[in-house]
Amino acid sequence: MEILLNEIIDRNRHLIENGKVANYIPALAKADYRKIGVTVAGRTGSLLYSAGDYNEKFTLQSISKVISFLVAAMDNGLDHIFEKVGLDSTDEPFNAFTKLDLPNIHKPANPMINSGAILTTGMIKGDSQERFQKILELTRRMANNPYIGYDEEVYLSEKETGSRNRSMAYLMNSKGILDGDVEGVLDTYFKQCSIQVDTMDLAKIGRFISSGCEGIDIKGISRKDMSVMVKGLLFTCGMYNYSARYAIEVGIPSKSGVGGGIMGILPDGMGIGIFSPALDENGNSSAGIGIIKELSRRLHLNIFDDRKLQADLEAY
Ligand code: GLU
Repeated sequence: MEILLNEIIDRNRHLIENGKVANYIPALAKADYRKIGVTVAGRTGSLLYSAGDYNEKFTLQSISKVISFLVAAMDNGLDHIFEKVGLDSTDEPFNAFTKLDLPNIHKPANPMINSGAILTTGMIKGDSQERFQKILELTRRMANNPYIGYDEEVYLSEKETGSRNRSMAYLMNSKGILDGDVEGVLDTYFKQCSIQVDTMDLAKIGRFISSGCEGIDIKGISRKDMSVMVKGLLFTCGMYNYSARYAIEVGIPSKSGVGGGIMGILPDGMGIGIFSPALDENGNSSAGIGIIKELSRRLHLNIFDDRKLQADLEAY
């Protein structure tokens, strides 16, 4: 498997040149655009197949939205969340919010775009620090890594320059969609985006969801059903406004972040983590998309591809 991963990295490395490291959060611009790493987490706890810069740390950014969504669901139940946030895919960029200002719109499209994620984070019980602590602890549990922390520089940089996120939060506040301490909610959101991981952590988070969200107790829904729900949510909304094409071309429920990470949920308790910080025009990792596309095609991982590998993936 490592041989295959190395080969796929090499074949897709050139795609770095089509992308650009995010610079709207100044601290993200410091990332080395040449880095590429990938990890596939096999079914059994200790099985990790990695290649490239799999030790390189980067921030979760939007991938944290999956985790804050789970924490909010544990605190409130799903029905309550979807009273406030939609479950619609979107054709708009992750940070768009013009539609939110329309008089007939009372919900962000889904919890995976910024407005929906800020609202979901605000539904987590506790003050700003307690909310962040819950998100951090769940991240550590999902990745089975107690050492995960956050990048203070990225957090402060986003907090300082986050006018766009701030405007959408205050717009939601003015419409009565987001109540309470708006700055406190934004603070949690900026900090959760700055949680620092590597591709092994991401792959294990994918595996955690695939294998049934062990330990996630949500009123009215079994863990297995929650895992099905999260996969559906990411399939339709996980890759910004590229989600529909990605669903067809890759067919793996995934979430990306502007830090350059992609977390994919494979069938049968397996996961993928990819990192390469140069982003395409949709905000997805350029080379990361190439890598996951090729992996999906060569290993028949697209959920609509029924030419499943006869051999067990772990024995590849
Ligand atoms: N912290 C980023 C923002 O809110 C996250 C965006 C992303 O990764 O899509 O702008």
